[in-house]
Amino acid sequence: MLELEKELNASQIKAVTLTDAPLLVIAGAGSGKTRVLTYKVAYLLENGYKPWEILSLTFTNKAAREMNRRIEQLIGEGRTRHIWSGTFHSIFARILRQEAANIGYSPNFTIYDTTDSQSVIRRIVKEMGLDDKTYKPARILSCISEAKSRLVLPDAYAADTAIMRRNAARNISETHRIYKRYNELLQQSDAMDFDDLLLMTFLLFRDHDDIRRKYADRFRYILVDEYQDTNYAQHRIVMQLAPGGCICVVGDDAQSIYSFRGANIGNILSFSDQFKDTKIVKLERNYRSTKNIVRAANSIIAHNKRQIHKDVFSEEAEGEKIKVISAYSDKEEAIIVSKFIGNYHLRDHTELNDIAILYRTNAQSRAIEEALRDKNIPYRIYSGLSFYQRKEIKDVIAYLRLIINPHDDEALRRVINYPARGIGSTTLGKLQQAASDNGCSLWEACQHPTEMGADLNKGTLGKLGIFLQLIDDFREKEKTLDIVEATKYVVTTSGIQNDLLTDDDSESKRQNVDELLASIAHFAEERREMSGEESASLSQYLTEVSLLTDTDKTDDGSPKVTLMTVHAAKGLEYDTIFITGMEEGLFPSESHFASSAELEEERRLFYVAVTRAKKRCILTWCKNRFRYGKTEICDPSPFLDEIDASCLDKSSKTEGAGKNVFMNSTGSYGTGSFSIFGTRSSKSNNWHRATGSSSSGGTVPPRSTTGLQRLRKSDDTARNVDSIS
Ligand code: ATP
Ligand code: MG
Repeated sequence: MLELEKELNASQIKAVTLTDAPLLVIAGAGSGKTRVLTYKVAYLLENGYKPWEILSLTFTNKAAREMNRRIEQLIGEGRTRHIWSGTFHSIFARILRQEAANIGYSPNFTIYDTTDSQSVIRRIVKEMGLDDKTYKPARILSCISEAKSRLVLPDAYAADTAIMRRNAARNISETHRIYKRYNELLQQSDAMDFDDLLLMTFLLFRDHDDIRRKYADRFRYILVDEYQDTNYAQHRIVMQLAPGGCICVVGDDAQSIYSFRGANIGNILSFSDQFKDTKIVKLERNYRSTKNIVRAANSIIAHNKRQIHKDVFSEEAEGEKIKVISAYSDKEEAIIVSKFIGNYHLRDHTELNDIAILYRTNAQSRAIEEALRDKNIPYRIYSGLSFYQRKEIKDVIAYLRLIINPHDDEALRRVINYPARGIGSTTLGKLQQAASDNGCSLWEACQHPTEMGADLNKGTLGKLGIFLQLIDDFREKEKTLDIVEATKYVVTTSGIQNDLLTDDDSESKRQNVDELLASIAHFAEERREMSGEESASLSQYLTEVSLLTDTDKTDDGSPKVTLMTVHAAKGLEYDTIFITGMEEGLFPSESHFASSAELEEERRLFYVAVTRAKKRCILTWCKNRFRYGKTEICDPSPFLDEIDASCLDKSSKTEGAGKNVFMNSTGSYGTGSFSIFGTRSSKSNNWHRATGSSSSGGTVPPRSTTGLQRLRKSDDTARNVDSIS
């Protein structure tokens, strides 16, 4: 039974129980927005709504899982099983798979990641004979992505004089042609990119009113967290689905930090214009942080001109002042942070799980990781999706993708000659040309190369035939084997296993492939627990992998410090927060010189960072930082001066004499029981960086082995910190 009075304040209760009008909860950090959504779902379930009538959109899938877990604690196990909850992308991928036939796709369409998309663009640029230095794939993809997130299709793009003028000024006036061709190639490959998941959903609902109505009727209530970071496409889809206004969105304009990805703060500001009779609830009491932290955060955000005024306050203890610490170098900064953590843990008994280290850019993590390893402090890192970007992992996944969708050109190109089977680049070029001439996928061109005009000799045709048989065999096996067995079969039969076994230097690659198997097994198990499905499908697994966000990785929860970017920390909270790299040009990033709007976005990001802290916040900066291949002299961040001086600990300035530290890191996913190489020793499914070579690229000097050896022995238990000096 829900006891709202005990758990929520009056404004929060109002937000939970108001269901007969569109509702906008606009509130400061830590004021209980996510808590309101959680209780609201529980309230709806207690008041006659069926789980499948509720659509709950969160910023990460992990947040959705946590919300459901909490709801089950409140009203009973199993009650959330059929709620439609997850990110916009994962929910809409699910809808698109169900309705794929209506938009010319198969239910098994592939979701291209950024690398796939850029590779397609690279090919188009070549095909069109354009200069690849001007038409850089990342640059063009970002134009296409922006267009898609604004629901601008290629023809409208070409007809938009403002866009055309802007592109001409940037010397990329052919972008509209690339955009058009890009969509054609994706469609041919039965593939969508991330932005398509939104764009296609919008088009599906726009062009098939019966389908739109089906979902609008099904979802009797829609809830959206972090609404300030939705883009135009998401906003419009929400409007398509909630014409009657059975919707509650929550957000904080002061925490809008994704405008670079097309998020539009205007969506939240104009919500009440879009939905008639919107009720607005403001929450101003921060339940998360100490008075000092809330005051400091308020003083930071007060420097932004564009914002809705809020009087956020805390009734918690006054708390510690914020420390600002300068270091000589980035290495020393990392060492200082690790020493502080050691002290907090040993002296104040702060749990490692209650500590997070934040940074503006992923590259900053390397020095910090090194220092933590030196002190044997276990950590987890939420950074990019490096595990799934590794070559050996991408190779296996490409085979799996081909099983589900053989028209997936990018996957086929990747493995047609890996492991080497004598189908070289000339052959691939001929097949590619044939596919292009016939407007079909590479797979189709491979089936009938001669008829399609690819002039291949008998030997090559034979080799191609063997490859096609291999894929057909995999497709057959997938029908009968479970996903772990099917993947094992692929790794052994494709020749990948042999290839990795014959290479002495492939130990870490073998480990990674074993870890991939473990992650698939883990996925299947979770799926069984969460939705009661007997067996998870490969297609579901691939969708999940392609839509992973930084913080989605599963973790066994053992005591570890968390490392992540400020962006990834959105919505999360920790007792102790370190914000590192508080330097001009890093935080705020250099982009802030471009405009005051950019500076305001950086400041909102800083506000997000500080408001993650419940009790303690430590800001660090260094005078010399190794960046872009050289050591740069740094100035402190101007944001440091913006914090109300009364909130700062004046005595906290520390400068130590750093020692030389080399860096080396990699991520891994671990459990040993699914090994086909027998390489893993770790016993749990956890993300940690432990062994191997650099994942961040660049040349890394060899490091002394002592730290690594110690880490290998100790891995992930709290006892490691006993040795902290
Ligand atoms: P953010 O803006 O960072 O997303 P938020 O507004 O979503 O924050 P929550 O994460 O929901 O805030 O709440 C912050 C913390 O305060 C959580 O630990 C939550 O459980 C707690 N909290 C919120 N409201 C109450 C309340 N009425 N009583 C006790 N604790 C509360
Ligand atoms: Mg929240």
